[in-house]
Amino acid sequence: MTSISDIRAKLLSKELSVEEVVNAALQNAKAKESYGAFLELYDDTKEQAEYAQKLLDEKGEEAPALCGIPIAVKDNMLVKGHVATSASKILDGYVAPYDATVIAKLKEQGAVLVGRTNMDEFAMGSSTEHSAYQKTLNPIDDTRVPGGSSGGSAAAVGLDIVPVALGSDTGGSIRQPASFCGIVGLKPTYGAVSRYGLMAMGSSLDQIGPLTTNVEDAKIVFDAIKGLDPKDSTSQSGKEVETSKKMKIGVPRDLMKEGVDEDVLNHFEASLEKLKEQGHEVVDVKFETAKYGIPVYYIVMPAEASTNLARYDGVRFGPRVEGKDFNESFSKTRTEGFGEEVRRRILLGTYVLSSGYIDAYYNSAERAREVMRAELREIFEKVDVLATPSTATPAFKFGEKSDPLAMYAQDIFTVPANLTGNPGISVPMGEVDRDGVKLPVGIQFVAPHFGEERLFTIGSDVTGEEYTK
Ligand code: GLN
Repeated sequence: MTSISDIRAKLLSKELSVEEVVNAALQNAKAKESYGAFLELYDDTKEQAEYAQKLLDEKGEEAPALCGIPIAVKDNMLVKGHVATSASKILDGYVAPYDATVIAKLKEQGAVLVGRTNMDEFAMGSSTEHSAYQKTLNPIDDTRVPGGSSGGSAAAVGLDIVPVALGSDTGGSIRQPASFCGIVGLKPTYGAVSRYGLMAMGSSLDQIGPLTTNVEDAKIVFDAIKGLDPKDSTSQSGKEVETSKKMKIGVPRDLMKEGVDEDVLNHFEASLEKLKEQGHEVVDVKFETAKYGIPVYYIVMPAEASTNLARYDGVRFGPRVEGKDFNESFSKTRTEGFGEEVRRRILLGTYVLSSGYIDAYYNSAERAREVMRAELREIFEKVDVLATPSTATPAFKFGEKSDPLAMYAQDIFTVPANLTGNPGISVPMGEVDRDGVKLPVGIQFVAPHFGEERLFTIGSDVTGEEYTK
């Protein structure tokens, strides 16, 4: 698969112009349209490419690392003048009035945004099957899902259309599809990347991050989009934690006792062995509260989503279904505009926040979350990173997880990092054979807040990349 540095070398040597690089990406996207990775290819790539080419010609080697690199964007981030729908009918045709901070940063650095990618509606799901518009097929096996909710972004990279796509991760939506598509996915520390211009799902959980073909590229994109933003009061510019070349890796084996595919476990153990051979130390750790991750997440996230989604009323954003008065119009718009999974979560969220139940559910969940944070802080006094498989299984088939609870269980290894705000990365650790097809599976590492550098270091030891900070 193509990396940022492959393209950059060709741009700098003038073997290719930015326009040629971008046109190749667009042509490739069209040739692979049946995979459904994109909801739309942008029509202003020529202008963007011109700007990038100018920057590149002026600055040469000094040009930003992403200058002239084609990038795909998940459909829940605002790109000024372009439609952004979160793959929902309720935002059909909605045109973004401003750029999300990450988009403004990318544009300034001369990255070329080629289009918006398919996703689960409002980022709710693990398969991209909940998009109101289309299915996205797994790049390796088209009878299987690409994962979700950033499935379109993961497929766009996995299909080698673009070397970089942005995703968002509220409970695993970057790391899980990265695992299913055989690529790298980073969920940064909560607050490290501005959420301004990202359509909010669970505001205390959401983070934007990159999907890339290798670890080095994840680092390049992270550096390009991170930073304190006055427009997002939860953004921070934290101090990077130190990273040593040889790390102590904690493995919460209790979490892997049930429900994890045997082939996935075998690859996981083999990866740990490989890391040991490279001089890292592997120890068992207890992460007792992690098993409450799913129930806590599925209270906190719907609670926040139900309030965040209250703004879609048919007046302020998107199309309206007329009724005889405001109330009827409001309810018709939301009933027709939101898909089933979104309605389910709004109901769940309103329920756990209602006055009779808030103590039993929402407040208890927030308390449990605090205990989880404290436990993880303690764990990171003993180890440098935590390791688990990214997902319990390789990519599943379409329709296989039609029971919502089976779909929710997907997130077992990924949600704790969102609840505690820690950074997590998924990198490919091998392939498992299913019906004669080799499906990729990923290993996840989690680090202390602002410990992304540890993730890049250990992640590249798994993939065998040369990685220098
Ligand atoms: N699969 C999880 C959910 O459905 C995570 C989604 C996400 O990270 N956006 O909520």
